[in-house]
Order: sequence, then C-alpha cells, then structure tokens
Amino acid sequence: MPPRNRYHRKNRSWPHFLLGALTVGLGGSLLFYFLAPAAATRLLPEALRSRIPAPDRSGSFLPEQLRARLGLPAPQPGAPSAPEDEPEAAPARPLPPAALLDGDERVSVIMYHDITNQPSVYFDVTTAVFRTQLLALQQAGANVISLDDLYEHLRGGKILPPRSVVLTFDDTYLGQLTNAYPLLKEFGYPATFFVHTAVIGKKTGKDHMTWEQLRKLEREGLVRIEGHTETHPDDLRNCTDAQLQRELVDSKKLLEEKLEKQIRFLAYPVGNADGRVAQVAREAGYVMAFTMGPGLAASPADAYFVPRLLPHRMAPVLQMWQQGSPVPTTTSNVVGVKTAPLEVGSVEDGQVHMRYVRGGRLSTLRLLGRRSVPAMLAMAGASAGLNGTFFSDARVNSAGNGIVGPVLSRFGPGFAPGLPGDRQKIAGRPLVVISATEMAFLPFQPNLALDESGVERLLPGATDAFVGGAWLIHRGQPLTHEQMEAFGLTNIFDFRPRAFFGIDREGRPFLGASSTGNESDRLAETLVQLDLEECVLLDSGFSTSLSIGKTPLVSGIRRKDMDVRPVPHVLVLHAVDEATGKEIILAPPRSTNLVGPPYRPTLETLQAALQRDLPSALAADGAGGGKRGRRGRARGVRRARR
Ligand SMILES: [Zn+2]
Repeated sequence: MPPRNRYHRKNRSWPHFLLGALTVGLGGSLLFYFLAPAAATRLLPEALRSRIPAPDRSGSFLPEQLRARLGLPAPQPGAPSAPEDEPEAAPARPLPPAALLDGDERVSVIMYHDITNQPSVYFDVTTAVFRTQLLALQQAGANVISLDDLYEHLRGGKILPPRSVVLTFDDTYLGQLTNAYPLLKEFGYPATFFVHTAVIGKKTGKDHMTWEQLRKLEREGLVRIEGHTETHPDDLRNCTDAQLQRELVDSKKLLEEKLEKQIRFLAYPVGNADGRVAQVAREAGYVMAFTMGPGLAASPADAYFVPRLLPHRMAPVLQMWQQGSPVPTTTSNVVGVKTAPLEVGSVEDGQVHMRYVRGGRLSTLRLLGRRSVPAMLAMAGASAGLNGTFFSDARVNSAGNGIVGPVLSRFGPGFAPGLPGDRQKIAGRPLVVISATEMAFLPFQPNLALDESGVERLLPGATDAFVGGAWLIHRGQPLTHEQMEAFGLTNIFDFRPRAFFGIDREGRPFLGASSTGNESDRLAETLVQLDLEECVLLDSGFSTSLSIGKTPLVSGIRRKDMDVRPVPHVLVLHAVDEATGKEIILAPPRSTNLVGPPYRPTLETLQAALQRDLPSALAADGAGGGKRGRRGRARGVRRARR
C-alpha cells in the first residue's frame, strides 16, 4: 500500500518584500533584513481567507524608531500576491528506512523458550501450561499473526485485526518442535523460532533441533525460522567487531544457505543490544530486531529495538482487552522541508494575539545552564528563535535544567536520554525529529531514541530531536479538547501565553507565540488557519519567548529586571540563501558551552553572505542600535501592541 505520509512540493517564484528587523551579532552591530514570501493564506478557501490578517510585512510590532530608521513601509492592506502556479501533485513520500511508523495497533510479541515436561529454569514453560496459555488467548479473542504481518503493519500500515499477538520461541530447543509445534498446529497459530546455529543438531544438556527438522518446519509453513546469532553470547554489546561479524552476519548466511530462504528478523540473545550492535544488524540485512522488552510492539518503533513480553506478562494485556484498549489519537507524520525566506506575521483573532516567524532552517540549541532566547540566538548565529521544550521545574529540583524526555541538539552538548522515570509518563506526546530536509512527528514510545543512533534510525540525517508537550495540529487538523487531555499535560487549558512550533503545508518551519493567555484548544482553532500541517506545544507561560535577533516579539514575563525568562533549550531559525540553499549563520558561536555545529562557516563565508544578502543602506548603518538598553526595546514592543 502507498505510504500515507505525503507532503506538497510546489515550485513558486516568491516575490520578496523587505520586511522586518534582524539583529546581527557581528561586532555588536545591528543589521536588519527580512525577505517575506507571498502570504500562505491564498492557499486557503475564500471563506477562511477573509478571517486571517495578511502576514505583517511592515514590522509594525517593532520599536517605532527602529522601523523609521530602517525605512520600512507602512502596512499595506491587500499587498500584491504572487501569480499562482498550478500545484503539482504531491509525490508519495518514502518512509525513513529504519523507522516503523505506520501501524497503529499495539501488538504483544510473546517470547517463549523451551516447552518441556521437565522445566529447569524459570522461563521454561510446561506443555500443559503452554496449552492453557493458548486457550486463554483463544478465549480472549486474540488473533495470532505472523512476524511478517507485524512487520508489514508497522512498516507499511497493513491492517491487522484487533488483539493481535505474535508468538516467538528462542534458543533452538527440540521441545519447541516436539511439544509446542503440535499445539500450534492444533490451534492454527503461526510462530517464529529464533535459532542460534552453533547448537543445531547438538545436545548441550538439552536437545536441539536438527537442520532437517528446521527445513521441514519451513516447508510446512506454520513456523518460520529466523536468526538468534551463532553462539548465543550473553551480551552482544561486549563483542568485538569481528565477533559481531561472525554472530550476526556469518550465522545469517549459514541459515540462508541451509534453509534456502532469506533471514530478515533477529532476536538479540538476552535482549542485549546498543546502537552499534543495531547498526551491524541493519547492515547485515536484518529489517527488524527484538529485545526482551518489556513492552508492546507499537508504532512508531525503532525497528532494531522492538520489545517482547515473557508469557506471564500477557495477563495484564488480556485484562486491557476486556476493558477496551485506548484509541490512539495521533499517528506519525514525516514532512519535507522547503527552502523559503524568513517571514514574520501576526494574527489578531478575537481573543488570540500571536506573532510568528516562518521559513529558514530550523534547528535547536541546548545549554547545560539557562540563557535568554536572544542570547542563545547570538550563540547559534541564528536570525529568530523561540523557547524550547519542557525542562525540569526548578521549584522541584534546584538543578532543574534537564530537558524532559530525550533531546538531541545540533548546537549543544550532544544527546541526552532524559530521566528514565519520564519516559513512561510522556508516552504518546509528540517526538519531533529534525533534519535539514525533513521533520518527523511521532507519538513518543519509551523505547524510542534511547541513544543518538536511535534518533538517526528514526530519521536519517537527524540533527535535532526533542519531545514536545502536546499536539495542537496534526495532519492539518486541530486537536479537540478531549484529544489534548490525553497528553496528560498540566496547564494545557489554563489561560497563559503559549509557545508553539510546527511546519506548514508548504514545508516551512514555523515558530509562534501568543502574547495573550489562551487555552490550547482555542489556540489550535486559530493556528489551523495559518495552513499548518503539524503544530506542537512547547514550554509556555513565563518561558514563552519569541525573538528576532535581540528584539523580543513576545515574552511571557514582564518584570522590571528581566524582559525574557532564561531557558535551557531554544528552537532557532537560520535564514537560507535561496540561490545556494545555504544557511546564513550570522556569527560564529562564542560560548564555551557550545559544541560546534556540523556546518561552521569561516569568517570569510559569513562576511560574503552578509555582503551579498544585506541591503547596502542597512549594512552601512553601523552599530548604534545595538547599544540600546533592553528596557527600551521592551517598551517599544509593548507600545507596538496597542
Ligand atoms: Zn536466547
């Protein structure tokens, strides 16, 4: 079936309007420049269009003196828009190769070992107990499916019956053939036997199946044989590269030769693996690999860390079925990023007053401490920025700068997995993964993004990842009050300034903040008019802080000594040179807190970009504006709100 995820690519020649203010850190001088594309609003139905003010190209929210100095035009109602091209048909979007994104059933993968009449270890199951477990599944209305069905479901959205279960058996025991197989046939339940090749046909205290028996199973078709290494090392993470080659690659080749079939799935012995092991498995050609969980195989999943359940853990699953399983409100969406100039806009829609910046290249910056958004923009050499995601509350933990959930930042001290205790609590919230060309929005699962390579497997080329608070808009639709409640976020319906970000249907990254106190569902109704495909709530209230350069556009805090609240995580936009597609990084990062960005332009590159891109009148303007006090600017912003 075709992937569900689609995005639009349109070729338009955007007219540019000199727009707003942009503060540049070079030598403390202020330089201003904005290019605004035509309003996205013209893509909307006429009925909606009339409700939306055009993006603010006048910079009217900027301090008046700055605007005057820049010679920005007064707001022009009905500014001319670009001639419209016929939109091209949206091409089908391939899924990232290693992420399992599309299914929405939560499937129990049960992990058996020996089925024996003489159990010797706790994970052995007697034949009699095995029969009662199959009966319990049957009576509960379980649908036992093959591993292939699970893979096709998670990978390509194949429809599964409700209450799907997968049966797997590890370690090549003869009892699986003599005791379990007759019962599997009796119930008509498919299964997968994960075998390790060193014991095939051997007796090592317990009997193991022979090559001939495995071939016979494959021929009969109810049971499929898949990989479980050669020698069953207790912990693949401790293996050398050469050992991994033998355990994962050579054993797979041997199975494929002897059984004359392709081996596609792998169970890690004792469930032990890390990013390096998973990478070898992926390169060897396994398309999905299993740990020992616990957990359900749910989408989205890291294809190389799919959890399984010990048989006794099925009891709560059966109980959940009786009560009716929760309906997921969101699925995964991967949206292509389009190169577009930065645009500033504002919306005044009854109770909602918001400002936004969209376009450019989105990435994030994380600090171990906290700084204001304008200060962090200067560090990243970015043009615009917004406070980032949730962090540990300082009222609870005085060292509370840790981000809630896993976080990877292009600018900052590398990957952090977040507190283990948070992972279950934030399940279902939007996990955002960002690369230069795509943004993925996935309902977070506790076994996702365990390390940096886990982020890379979800979206190749990923530079940034974090977990937002809640979806406001998903697949172009605003979430309802009820759906938002499911994210378990306190304050979500309080009246408070809100910070949010997303991507529009054109593929332009979007940063926004409301200066008014708004309930999230009311906000989503307004935001959907801005043609957003996905939009996610960030830390809000006092933390709300949207800035262009050093100029705060919206701040959730108004104190005499502080006009924006320092935060540890910021979303930043770099302007993009439309001709070359290259980012315009305004100043090299200076802080020792920063680990360098992958793209670190030389000073010459920066100066060339600035010379080329900044109108000469502004470039010659000098440093005067940069020395303004913060309070002066804050007053200017407030004045502009009238
Ligand atoms: Zn095993």
